[in-house]
Amino acid sequence: MALDFSQYTCEYCGAPCTQVLFACFLCDKKECVDKAREDRGGPGGHMKRKAQGQSIDPADIIREDMITESSDKN
Ligand SMILES: [Zn+2]
Repeated sequence: MALDFSQYTCEYCGAPCTQVLFACFLCDKKECVDKAREDRGGPGGHMKRKAQGQSIDPADIIREDMITESSDKN
């Protein structure tokens, strides 16, 4: 199943989403990727999410986003 990232926006700059990294919607700018990496605690940051029992599958993240309005910032 292909995900259409174009209907989402980068969490940092609001540009059209082109990829999902570190369990974030991101554009292709390095600065946004870097910010996401920092926010998620480094290269293994998405593993924290996994450790919390949350899915790191982009499709699941999108589903969660629709349900929880992404209050994952604390
Ligand atoms: Zn961006």
